[in-house]
Amino acid sequence: MIFVSLAILATALLVALRVLWKQNRRLTALHEAIKAGQGHLQSEVTTDILPAWRPLIASVNTLIAENNRLALHSTDKLAQLEATLGNLREAVLIVDEANYIHLANRALRDIFPTARNLVNLRLELIIRSAAFLDYVRNTRAGQLLPRQEFEITEGQSTQCIEVSGAPITSPDGKTQWALFVIHDMTQQRKLERLRRDFVANASHELRTPLSMIKGYVETLVDGHQTMPTEERDRFLKTIQRHSDRLHDIIQDLLTLSRLESATPGVNFEPLELAALLEAFSDEYRRRPNAQEHTIAVVASLSVGIIHADPVKFSQIFSNLIDNALKYTPKGSHIELRARELDSGELELEVRDNGPGIPAEDLPHIFERFYRVDKGRSRETGGTGLGLSIVKHIVQLHGGRVWAESEAGQGTSIRMRFPRNSPAENVRPA
Ligand code: ADP
Repeated sequence: MIFVSLAILATALLVALRVLWKQNRRLTALHEAIKAGQGHLQSEVTTDILPAWRPLIASVNTLIAENNRLALHSTDKLAQLEATLGNLREAVLIVDEANYIHLANRALRDIFPTARNLVNLRLELIIRSAAFLDYVRNTRAGQLLPRQEFEITEGQSTQCIEVSGAPITSPDGKTQWALFVIHDMTQQRKLERLRRDFVANASHELRTPLSMIKGYVETLVDGHQTMPTEERDRFLKTIQRHSDRLHDIIQDLLTLSRLESATPGVNFEPLELAALLEAFSDEYRRRPNAQEHTIAVVASLSVGIIHADPVKFSQIFSNLIDNALKYTPKGSHIELRARELDSGELELEVRDNGPGIPAEDLPHIFERFYRVDKGRSRETGGTGLGLSIVKHIVQLHGGRVWAESEAGQGTSIRMRFPRNSPAENVRPA
């Protein structure tokens, strides 16, 4: 009998313990969920538990319902914002009190294409600039900061962004978030830098001959009456050389600015390529500075017709042949080549067997005022703008140009033009 009573008691104890353990697990889960704070709580707590806990459970359920309502409301609000700001051209970013991203519209994703899905990521993972993160923190804290620019470096690339921000209240009204409007200024700043460099380079290039002319003229003004005739002639020749140089630089600058203008004035005409190259080489063979070079044309008649601006096209070849003459020693060989590629494109080339261009200079030689050997270029009357002009003209004809060279093996400047567009180049009939 005692044994049966003990067994019943033990079973009752076990059942009670099991109920208690179950309730404890539920309460722990509930506690964790409430502690986690945000988000939609999954389930409400059932009341199949001890009667003494029922009022507490009822209150907790009310709290969960309220929390779920607020979470839904805040998701709705964010969805509304996303819909409104999604297509805006300005990049918009919203971060919460812990720097988690809640909204990043398409324009923002375009600025940071490597970070695919920005939402729910911590801002620090995308933008590591300490200055920008400070700006975010101060904005969220309510400081009224002026628009500010930041340089964001990620690996090899540096982006320049302009940011303005404002503190906002989180959709559930409990915490302070921040909203930012971001402009990508990278391209603009790059262009400004290029323009600044260009003005600085151009001023420098103009100043050198100008100060030479000024110096010699001043000496002549003071002493031309007492100066020996040969010395005066030498002075005048130097002035002439430097004013020619000034003229050439200004001419090339004007050519470049016309080519870069909205109306570069390209007049396409059908040009017989092989005949055109022969005409260029004939003309150069007669020049005094080409007497000690050999010039050949390698182009079959089947290469046909190119639709191009004859004046601008001849500028390409005069720049390239001039370079081949200037930068190769006497006795060097120059070839003007044309062929049609399997793709249908036309490839033109000016090739020489001179000293070539070092590999580290090759990517830069089409930049304005870039010279491999400054002294040699100036000495031979170079302005440092020739290849830049060539590049612009080739591009206006829908083509591309590049240089191939190996030290000691000569230089080849190659151009490829489409047969049809935009210059509508056509095969011979
Ligand atoms: P430049 O007026 O100085 O000739 P370019 O723009 O025509 O300016 O050429 C840029 C630089 O490229 C030249 O200064 C020269 O150093 C180099 N270069 C161009 N063509 C050749 C060539 N055929 N052989 C060797 N170097 C060349």
